[in-house]
Amino acid sequence: MRTIPAPVQNLIDAFARLPGIGPKTASRLTFFLLKAPAETSLDLAQALEAMQTETSHCSECFNITLAGEEKCDICASSTRDPEVICVVEEPLDVLAIERTGAFQGKYHVLQGVLSPIEGIGPDQIKVFPLLERLKSGQVREVIIATNPSMEGDATALYLQQRISQMGIKVTRLARGLPVGGDIEYADQSTLQRALSYRQEME
Ligand SMILES: [Zn+2]
Repeated sequence: MRTIPAPVQNLIDAFARLPGIGPKTASRLTFFLLKAPAETSLDLAQALEAMQTETSHCSECFNITLAGEEKCDICASSTRDPEVICVVEEPLDVLAIERTGAFQGKYHVLQGVLSPIEGIGPDQIKVFPLLERLKSGQVREVIIATNPSMEGDATALYLQQRISQMGIKVTRLARGLPVGGDIEYADQSTLQRALSYRQEME
């Protein structure tokens, strides 16, 4: 083959922009779809479009929600403890902690972490809406469950300084999570232990 037709190359490029997918995998996926029944590609295209148009963010915790719903199921639930908020980086972390079944409070999804190197400050993530939520005076503990990475640590420290000023207890997941690892990939028992043995930040 002298050249790859542009529509094929465009799809390879689109796949290659996804995390964890290199040029080789991008080509493999593209050529798989070329060979598969048209339905396979059309289903994928429809699922992608629906994901974009039919989802939104919870106005309270910034977790993913269905478009048109102001609050997610957890924020809307009357059985979840509103006095404890677990702060995570991404919606996937909510899923990971929910799988442990060990947490009955509510969440706050930062949608990122502080990273001075990448120019991401408190304005670029959902820090201020969190501080605003805490002003209600209802919350007695904030569990910081950012990843055990440099950025996750910096974000935890920043939040601890701001939140403890408000007279609210701030805890962080216990170590035992792999350093540099992601909470979303931690196995259930490790995450459950980290939650049970969370430590007060001072
Ligand atoms: Zn919510």
